[in-house]
Amino acid sequence: MKVRAQIAMVLNLDKCIGCHTCSVTCKQVWTSREGVEYAWFNNVETKPGIGYPKDWENQDKWKGGWKRKRNGKLEPRIGNRLRVLANIFANPDMPQIDDYYEPFTFDYAHLHNAPESKAMPTARPVSLITGERMEKIEWGPNWEEILGGEFSKRSKDRNFDKVQKDIYGQFEQTFMMYLPRLCEHCLNPACVAACPSGSIYKREEDGIVLVDQDKCRGWRMCVSACPYKKIYYNWQSGKAEKCTFCFPRIEAGEPTLCSETCVGRIRYLGVMLYDADRIEAAASTENEQQLYREQLDVFLDPSDPEVIAAARRDGVPELWLEAARRSPVYKMAIEWGVAFPLHPEYRTLPMVWYVPPLSPVQAAHEAGHVGWDGALPDVNALRIPVKYLANLLTAGAEAPVVLALQRMMAMRMHMRARTVENRMDADVL
Ligand code: SF4
Ligand code: SF4
Repeated sequence: MKVRAQIAMVLNLDKCIGCHTCSVTCKQVWTSREGVEYAWFNNVETKPGIGYPKDWENQDKWKGGWKRKRNGKLEPRIGNRLRVLANIFANPDMPQIDDYYEPFTFDYAHLHNAPESKAMPTARPVSLITGERMEKIEWGPNWEEILGGEFSKRSKDRNFDKVQKDIYGQFEQTFMMYLPRLCEHCLNPACVAACPSGSIYKREEDGIVLVDQDKCRGWRMCVSACPYKKIYYNWQSGKAEKCTFCFPRIEAGEPTLCSETCVGRIRYLGVMLYDADRIEAAASTENEQQLYREQLDVFLDPSDPEVIAAARRDGVPELWLEAARRSPVYKMAIEWGVAFPLHPEYRTLPMVWYVPPLSPVQAAHEAGHVGWDGALPDVNALRIPVKYLANLLTAGAEAPVVLALQRMMAMRMHMRARTVENRMDADVL
């Protein structure tokens, strides 16, 4: 057993309101510079949707510059330095600027300087790349959310009433949710394995994955390799950049910016203890649906005396041991089984975990499932299909997601009975 400590995050998707405050505060501090205008270390995706960059989940499209050997180890797909060089110029797996979006600002000065007219002046978008005014914006993060386009396209249809009905009919069948995303600070990081310069490293003390800016040579193999597409190339400095898990704040005992500023209070930070000797086996499990379970086996019980002794032997500081014992991440991910890793089938053992949404909880309420009736809640009454959540969070295994949703609903009923219905009697749960 080789015990290591890892800082991790749980996001409760039921509480995310899609306000993007986390993304904006992160951008303000980390990427409001020339060269990374298009980069969002934290972004909040509208799901279902193709995300940011476009289609990042399509792993056939983005094969990545790495391959996995039978023993589970990652190695760059390219064989030698010559091929590394060839790849820099024609890396077929790297998203281009159109896969992100053309970053823009607005011509705010026009609001003050426009000649007098009957209509209010408008601040038109201006490209941050060319400095030119943009006639229209054709793509950007969360574009899928702008459904109004369908109305305007079809508004000239003679039978508009029917069109409206059709569209609203479709709306009734639809569901949506928000998925905030950041670098996963994986236990088995593909970016580290793929870097030809050895500039990306995982910190021993807390597992944060960082890019050494002095060593980075701009090969960009990490951009291809990261299955979550969470590394960005800075065109100004010629180096790769990524989420730092706000390490200067963590070192000072402060939460990450996205956690501190989150309006929905959806983010929980904590320390997990894991056995580094088990990673290889967990990442190379043949059966994809087992990957989520295998990942769980990597983590160690922070209150087990044997684990504590081994952690001390391996140099884990007392402060981190205490943090692991109190960790909400350990409780939600392991003890209660209500938080899951994102796409465990990517095999990098991601360390940002998600509580699946019940939303809209109104649907559950209407179906009579909020309010204790002594039976287990029926998750099929929820609008977001379990299959969809399972494909996001457990490589398709539905049973753990169903159990988590039932637990979340049972807890909601319990709290509702106690607070709204004022039933303090013991038979509530
Ligand atoms: Fe590296 Fe991507 Fe994992 Fe972050 S999410 S540690 S960039 S492989
Ligand atoms: Fe969601 Fe919090 Fe970000 Fe708002 S700040 S989008 S609630 S994660």
